[in-house]
Amino acid sequence: MSNDPIHHGGCLCGAIRYEVHGHALQTSLCHCEDCRRASGAPAVAWTFFRPNALRWLQGHPREVCFAERIRLFCGDCGSPLVFIDPSLPEFTEVNTSSLDYPEEFPPGDQCWMADAMPWMDRLEKLPRFEHTSPLPDTE
Ligand SMILES: [Zn+2]
Ligand SMILES: [Zn+2]
Repeated sequence: MSNDPIHHGGCLCGAIRYEVHGHALQTSLCHCEDCRRASGAPAVAWTFFRPNALRWLQGHPREVCFAERIRLFCGDCGSPLVFIDPSLPEFTEVNTSSLDYPEEFPPGDQCWMADAMPWMDRLEKLPRFEHTSPLPDTE
């Protein structure tokens, strides 16, 4: 237990900070409509840890229960942080993008493709810019 890695994370505004102990059990990019609406993003990367692996270090997340699943988020800035599915008690799902080093947790699969935006497949072909994209011509 003492050799368990510890990963830190938090919300956009910094009101909420947490740590998770142990190795990731699974990683997945979820395309479901619920994740999409809860996050405002077309897909959400999740990293699965053991139950009770997570400890809140600062602040108190708000909870929303929808479809019998619980989503924890920052009540100040709205960042989605944690997902708990009571039908999957063996996992605590942490929003990968809320971790301080999300690059360490690449998704191992993509789930809920049934809900996926049809344009997700075409992202590879889009023009790319290192920072902001050029503004549209308004003339
Ligand atoms: Zn916040
Ligand atoms: Zn989802």
